[in-house]
Amino acid sequence: MSRVYNFSAGPAVLPEEVLKEAAEDMMDYKGCGMSVMEMSHRSKMFDDIIKEAEADIRSLMNIPDNYKVLFLQGGASQQFSAVPMNLMKNKKAGYIVTGQWAKKAAQEAKRYGEVVELASSADKTFSYIPDCSDLAITDDLDYVYICENNTIYGTHYHELPDTKGVDLVSDVSSCFLSEPIDVSKYAVVYGGVQKNVGPAGLVIAIIREDLITDDVLEGTPTMLKWKTQADNDSLYNTPNCWAIYICGLVFKWLLKNGGLEAMKKRNEEKAAVLYDFLDQSKLFKGTVEPASRSLMNVPFVTGDADLDAKFVAEAKAAGFENLKGHRTVGGMRASIYNAMPKEGVEKLVEFMAEFEKKNS
Ligand SMILES: *Cc1c(COP(=O)(O)O)cnc(C)c1O
Repeated sequence: MSRVYNFSAGPAVLPEEVLKEAAEDMMDYKGCGMSVMEMSHRSKMFDDIIKEAEADIRSLMNIPDNYKVLFLQGGASQQFSAVPMNLMKNKKAGYIVTGQWAKKAAQEAKRYGEVVELASSADKTFSYIPDCSDLAITDDLDYVYICENNTIYGTHYHELPDTKGVDLVSDVSSCFLSEPIDVSKYAVVYGGVQKNVGPAGLVIAIIREDLITDDVLEGTPTMLKWKTQADNDSLYNTPNCWAIYICGLVFKWLLKNGGLEAMKKRNEEKAAVLYDFLDQSKLFKGTVEPASRSLMNVPFVTGDADLDAKFVAEAKAAGFENLKGHRTVGGMRASIYNAMPKEGVEKLVEFMAEFEKKNS
């Protein structure tokens, strides 16, 4: 068996310890004679799995008691619709557009009400986070929406927008559990888990309880009404049992490794290895303004599309997978999520230095 260094943006690398544990459990989970994929979601065995997963993420993120944790399907993209359907009482919301995912979310919200674009970084191909300290926020907005870490462009909010008292909704898909956050500053925090937490097909939504009501937009499907899911503890229908189980194992791995403070420190050290190299390189260049850099997704270019392609191909041959940039931006992108060991980034940087020597 040989594992590669996987820099995929998502689905992405998972901790090897977790994969091994899942493999061991595969034929016979805790003596029940079947795998988690084969058991009833109404069984005691699975009930323990989902309850423990919830308790562990609550402990990791220090989630206040007045927030519900929902394990939902449909990916982060389905929440692009669920957010306005559940929250747009005045049919007006503010969106800060810092990349493709925020743009898609805003476009979806436009189907349900008025969308005010409060700020955007489209003018410089989303290479920075705009100043959000004094936005034109009015109190008739139902919520202010951000995508906290821009997976494609590699930017991250290092300070939350001042929403002037309006509820904040944040898509944290690609920075989920990468560092501590203060949940009480948000109305809704949600993320698809396939970037930094688990397998695809599960989105975890952390929602302040007072926002979970029957007062949703006309025509909201039963499944997209948060209250349906909350009233049924995420078991209104069959949930993604397998993904919930794997996330549960990842939560335990995070807790065992010091929780989110420790993870943040590790992620900062890891990202610094790559950013420090990029900052001194004569061939490779980071594409993001330093103050807006993400610890999770690091895009870079040589400035020459042919050389970029050569680099991606040679890197792949050397065991560094999925370094090609997003199809809409080109160049390269290294996603260095929680489960990427620092050693993987150090080896990548060595490889980049070699490549630079040979190609300049
Ligand atoms: C990947 C991604 C999405 C889309 O996730 P799906 O689960 O595929 O719908 C949304 N937002 C962000 C920030 C992402 O990185």
